[in-house]
Amino acid sequence: MGSVNDRYAWQDQSACRGTDLPAFTSHRQPGRRALAAATAICGRCPVRLECGEDALTDPTFTVGIWGGYYLGGGQYSRARAESVAALRAQSAAAREHAQ
Ligand code: SF4
Repeated sequence: MGSVNDRYAWQDQSACRGTDLPAFTSHRQPGRRALAAATAICGRCPVRLECGEDALTDPTFTVGIWGGYYLGGGQYSRARAESVAALRAQSAAAREHAQ
Protein backbone atom coordinates (compact mmCIF):
# COMPACT_ATOMS: atom_id res chain seq x y z
CA MET A 1 0.00 0.00 0.00
CA GLY A 2 1.30 3.42 -0.84
CA SER A 3 1.70 6.21 1.62
CA VAL A 4 -0.30 9.42 1.57
CA ASN A 5 2.68 11.08 -0.09
CA ASP A 6 2.69 8.41 -2.83
CA ARG A 7 -0.87 9.42 -3.62
CA TYR A 8 0.37 12.80 -4.75
CA ALA A 9 3.60 11.58 -6.37
CA TRP A 10 2.16 12.62 -9.75
CA GLN A 11 2.82 16.23 -8.74
CA ASP A 12 6.53 15.64 -9.33
CA GLN A 13 5.77 15.42 -13.06
CA SER A 14 3.38 18.35 -13.28
CA ALA A 15 4.03 20.78 -16.11
CA CYS A 16 3.09 23.73 -13.90
CA ARG A 17 5.72 22.85 -11.32
CA GLY A 18 8.10 25.77 -10.97
CA THR A 19 5.97 28.17 -12.99
CA ASP A 20 4.99 31.34 -11.25
CA LEU A 21 1.70 31.92 -13.03
CA PRO A 22 -0.75 33.07 -10.35
CA ALA A 23 -3.69 31.53 -12.23
CA PHE A 24 -2.68 28.13 -10.89
CA THR A 25 -3.05 29.11 -7.26
CA SER A 26 -4.98 32.36 -7.09
CA HIS A 27 -8.22 32.87 -5.21
CA ARG A 28 -9.09 35.47 -7.82
CA GLN A 29 -10.48 34.35 -11.15
CA PRO A 30 -7.82 34.83 -13.82
CA GLY A 31 -8.54 36.94 -16.85
CA ARG A 32 -9.06 35.31 -20.21
CA ARG A 33 -5.42 35.65 -21.33
CA ALA A 34 -4.01 34.46 -18.02
CA LEU A 35 -6.36 31.50 -18.03
CA ALA A 36 -5.40 30.62 -21.62
CA ALA A 37 -1.68 30.82 -20.79
CA ALA A 38 -2.11 28.54 -17.79
CA THR A 39 -4.37 25.99 -19.43
CA ALA A 40 -1.98 25.81 -22.40
CA ILE A 41 0.55 24.44 -19.92
CA CYS A 42 -2.06 21.94 -18.70
CA GLY A 43 -2.57 20.91 -22.31
CA ARG A 44 0.92 19.43 -22.44
CA CYS A 45 0.98 18.17 -18.86
CA PRO A 46 1.64 14.42 -18.52
CA VAL A 47 -0.39 14.18 -15.31
CA ARG A 48 -3.42 16.20 -16.29
CA LEU A 49 -5.77 13.32 -15.65
CA GLU A 50 -4.38 12.59 -12.19
CA CYS A 51 -4.53 16.27 -11.33
CA GLY A 52 -8.16 16.56 -12.38
CA GLU A 53 -9.19 13.35 -10.65
CA ASP A 54 -7.70 14.47 -7.37
CA ALA A 55 -9.63 17.71 -7.65
CA LEU A 56 -12.83 15.74 -8.21
CA THR A 57 -12.32 13.74 -5.04
CA ASP A 58 -12.09 16.80 -2.81
CA PRO A 59 -14.87 19.41 -3.07
CA THR A 60 -12.84 21.81 -0.98
CA PHE A 61 -10.43 22.34 -3.88
CA THR A 62 -11.88 25.68 -4.83
CA VAL A 63 -8.72 27.57 -5.70
CA GLY A 64 -6.87 27.77 -8.97
CA ILE A 65 -6.60 25.40 -11.88
CA TRP A 66 -6.77 21.63 -11.73
CA GLY A 67 -6.61 19.25 -14.67
CA GLY A 68 -6.84 22.11 -17.11
CA TYR A 69 -9.94 23.76 -15.61
CA TYR A 70 -10.39 26.68 -13.27
CA LEU A 71 -12.10 25.48 -10.10
CA GLY A 72 -12.35 28.76 -8.26
CA GLY A 73 -15.25 31.13 -8.14
CA GLY A 74 -16.89 29.55 -5.11
CA GLN A 75 -17.77 26.02 -4.13
CA TYR A 76 -21.26 26.26 -5.59
CA SER A 77 -20.64 28.57 -8.51
CA ARG A 78 -21.80 27.85 -12.03
CA ALA A 79 -18.22 28.16 -13.33
CA ARG A 80 -17.07 25.53 -10.87
CA ALA A 81 -19.97 23.23 -11.74
CA GLU A 82 -19.04 23.50 -15.42
CA SER A 83 -15.39 22.77 -14.66
CA VAL A 84 -16.30 19.76 -12.53
CA ALA A 85 -18.51 18.44 -15.33
CA ALA A 86 -15.67 18.91 -17.81
CA LEU A 87 -13.23 17.11 -15.51
CA ARG A 88 -15.65 14.20 -15.13
CA ALA A 89 -16.03 13.98 -18.90
CA GLN A 90 -12.25 14.12 -19.32
CA SER A 91 -11.83 11.32 -16.80
CA ALA A 92 -14.54 9.16 -18.37
CA ALA A 93 -13.07 9.64 -21.85
CA ALA A 94 -9.62 8.64 -20.61
CA ARG A 95 -11.01 5.49 -18.98
CA GLU A 96 -12.92 4.59 -22.11
CA HIS A 97 -9.81 5.15 -24.23
CA ALA A 98 -7.79 2.91 -21.90
CA GLN A 99 -10.15 -0.06 -22.36
S1 SF4 B 1 -2.98 19.64 -15.25
FE1 SF4 B 1 -2.37 21.77 -15.13
S2 SF4 B 1 -2.67 22.32 -12.98
FE2 SF4 B 1 -2.65 20.09 -13.09
S3 SF4 B 1 -0.54 19.49 -12.70
FE3 SF4 B 1 -0.79 19.67 -14.90
S4 SF4 B 1 -0.15 21.72 -15.44
FE4 SF4 B 1 -0.53 21.68 -13.22
